[in-house]
Amino acid sequence: MEITIEELVSRQKSYYDSGITKDIRFRLDMLQKLREAIRGAEDRIFEALKHDLNKPKAEAYGSEIGFLLAEITFVMKRAAAWAKPKKAKTPWLLLGSKSSIVPEPYGTALIISPWNYPVQLTFAPLIAAIAAGNTAVLKPSELTPVVSSLIADIVRNTFDPRYVAVVEGDAEVTGRLLRQPFDCMFFTGSTRVGSIVAQEAAKRLIPVTLELGGKSPCIVHRDADLLLAARRIAFGKFTNAGQTCVAPDYVWVHREVKAELIDRLRQTVEQFYGKDPVRNVNYPKIVNERHFQRLSRYLQQGTVAFGGETDTLLYKIAPTVMEDVPLDAESMQDEIFGPILPVFEYGELDEAIRFVLGKPKPLALYLFTGEEAVQNNVLSRISFGGGCINDTLMHLSSPYLPFGGVGESGTGSYHGEYGFRAFSHYKSVLKQTTAFDLPFRYPSSKTGYRMM
Ligand code: NAD
Repeated sequence: MEITIEELVSRQKSYYDSGITKDIRFRLDMLQKLREAIRGAEDRIFEALKHDLNKPKAEAYGSEIGFLLAEITFVMKRAAAWAKPKKAKTPWLLLGSKSSIVPEPYGTALIISPWNYPVQLTFAPLIAAIAAGNTAVLKPSELTPVVSSLIADIVRNTFDPRYVAVVEGDAEVTGRLLRQPFDCMFFTGSTRVGSIVAQEAAKRLIPVTLELGGKSPCIVHRDADLLLAARRIAFGKFTNAGQTCVAPDYVWVHREVKAELIDRLRQTVEQFYGKDPVRNVNYPKIVNERHFQRLSRYLQQGTVAFGGETDTLLYKIAPTVMEDVPLDAESMQDEIFGPILPVFEYGELDEAIRFVLGKPKPLALYLFTGEEAVQNNVLSRISFGGGCINDTLMHLSSPYLPFGGVGESGTGSYHGEYGFRAFSHYKSVLKQTTAFDLPFRYPSSKTGYRMM
């Protein structure tokens, strides 16, 4: 029987109010169920990702299924400890009392996800929501429809809809969800839509986590190991055909090593994807025609150093490095989100730093150098969500590190304990002694009011 979004949210709220989802044993059982459901659906997940994004199996395992299984294992080992009330110090003024911080779930969560890692980015926030004791409504992206309906099927067969449910649909459906009285919202997607979500949440003062995108720079200094840099940049940029929120968007490289870096990138791309990547059956496609057309336009904005081939029927674009891209080109205003890498050169590191500082704070930043002074210079001057020195993407695979943006690239973070925190309120409790009562806190008609 179909029920309305309003009824669904209302039933989840009643279920939450019953208290069942707060029991730590229940949370761990549900995480275990989710783990089994993901494991049991592996083949169907591979097929759906192949259909919607032409994602090869190894990539799909590493960045979606394997990622989730590792996160569940990490969280299950630690959730009970995270959920325990923590003792806090008490100042002498409150003599006799005890202080504690009690993590409590927000309640009923809304989780909205994008299409680029559609399984990971729907279930990773759910792991955190469950661990923290919430109920959740999931809204996967309509741009990967086969994955979206598979996620709905997995959830339907795993959870009571009063606990976890999927609502499928587009912007209009998401708009209706955003008007419901959720207790928290967790959104992954573009900065543009993130702003819509934040405005809707603000109307009801709903706490919100925003995992957004933007242009993540990569800086390659003169002393960098160029072979290693090329391999790691190519990996970060061309995985999922560049449709990765933390992919290096563009590169600033020291002028003396620019030609060699581009050469190394060319060799690396050939090793990774062969001489004709567009014909490589394991090379992912661009998600839809609109994005394919947008990226095809970017190929006209500058000189193609290598790559540039496209397949208009399969929506494929070869890994491409571009030079002489005007800084005011469309591709340098918007997040590229595709396999096109503009490369710029600098004489002084300051030029690259000043360029990045002139843009919104990025989700990620990558720096290739062995020089500590250069590392400190970049790290101390540029604000960004997270990143790597001498690598790309890998910071997001550590559950010990918070993953999130800053400013236009996001608000809040998750993964590991940070995910638990994103779905929890930390309630302060002061337990006062009744053994004595210090008189000086009270007003007295004899002595007048005394400030504490
Ligand atoms: P998107 O913002 O277009 O869509 C994300 C979700 O919002 C989808 O579920 C979609 O249905 C919904 N949506 C779209 N338009 C809406 C509207 N007007 N009102 C309400 N809801 C709406 O993003 P996308 O194209 O799916 O994903 C790409 C973007 O996501 C990129 O900017 C990328 O950097 C970012 N991203 C960020 C992360 C991260 O972890 N920070 C991860 C992946 C992707």
